[in-house]
Amino acid sequence: MKYCKKCLQPDTRPGILFDKDGVCFACKYEESKKNIDWPAREQELQQIAEWAKQERRKRQISYDCVIGVSGGKDSTFQAVYAKERLGLHPLLVNCAPDEITETGKANIDNLNRLGFDIISIHNNPNIAKQLAKKCFLEKGNMVIASEYCLWASAYIMADKFNIPLIIQGENAALTLGTAGIQETTGNAYSVVQLDTLSGGDAEALIRGENNIDIDDVYFYRMPNIESMKEKGIKAVFLQYYAKEWSQVYNADFSVARGLMGRTSEDLHDIGRYRRYSALDTDLVVVNQMIKYLKFGFGFATDEACYDIREGRLTREQAIWNVTEYDGKCGEKYIKKTCEYLSLTEEEFWQVVDRYVNRKLFEKNADGKWIPKFKVGEDFDEG
Ligand SMILES: [Zn+2]
Repeated sequence: MKYCKKCLQPDTRPGILFDKDGVCFACKYEESKKNIDWPAREQELQQIAEWAKQERRKRQISYDCVIGVSGGKDSTFQAVYAKERLGLHPLLVNCAPDEITETGKANIDNLNRLGFDIISIHNNPNIAKQLAKKCFLEKGNMVIASEYCLWASAYIMADKFNIPLIIQGENAALTLGTAGIQETTGNAYSVVQLDTLSGGDAEALIRGENNIDIDDVYFYRMPNIESMKEKGIKAVFLQYYAKEWSQVYNADFSVARGLMGRTSEDLHDIGRYRRYSALDTDLVVVNQMIKYLKFGFGFATDEACYDIREGRLTREQAIWNVTEYDGKCGEKYIKKTCEYLSLTEEEFWQVVDRYVNRKLFEKNADGKWIPKFKVGEDFDEG
């Protein structure tokens, strides 16, 4: 495992690109932001918004844009930006996780009270649970199916209501540096290039599940992108156009507008040191622990990379945070996940063990997985 020379990005992240000097694509992008003509980008976005307003009148519909929202920091920023800065009339679409947290509920209510119409989709919980378990067993990732809905729901609503514009938040190719699997533009149709959405439909997801019909997973399926483009529906990443977009800025912006975070939790329980992301489900916390065991990095690494690039932490300071919190997960979340998936803790760990990267981790005498590597130091996997 090799780390980026500037931040703490490891080369184990799927799709990550590095340059010949060992610097990751996300750091290169951060550098290049200085040279971006931001006023021109904002103007470009204003023109797209004006086009959407005209289309709304032409199509005689009530909304000019759709935004998929979880109620978290990014979607709160997107919604307020669309309404107040761009003067749009957005329809918000929320795909509620099956086991939504109290904080998640409060944040959707908050967004609603900020003055938005929200359509909330509640998928059949029995199927959601079955798919989460299947994805956990087969891929060691229990949130794949729910991510399908998160992405697809905004596209489905735009398609059905013939709404001209979809405003997505972040292009991960830029902020995580995964330009090996997704283009780095403002075009948000590129999400279908992502692993979780490639194939664009849920057929593979339900294969072998004889009690689930394709019509049972309607909201898990991305509509046909080509036919949406033909209808004149555009999809953009706000982050590509808005200079102020960052994890910390979006959190501050949204907290000022009523966002609640995981304010009372021990940071060791949530495996990170910032309290304003992934608020609406606790499964993500457990999932990040598994990701850590698979690839050698979790939530705290992502946060640290942003903090280094944006000048809030030195690489040294960030190493402390990552070493302290990355991959940690409170016992209560593991218990809750086991209950949700109808697994004993023993069964849960048997599955997790299958996905652990044994070149990076070894079991200690207590049966706990311990990293062989040191955060920030290139590690010879042998
Ligand atoms: Zn980097």
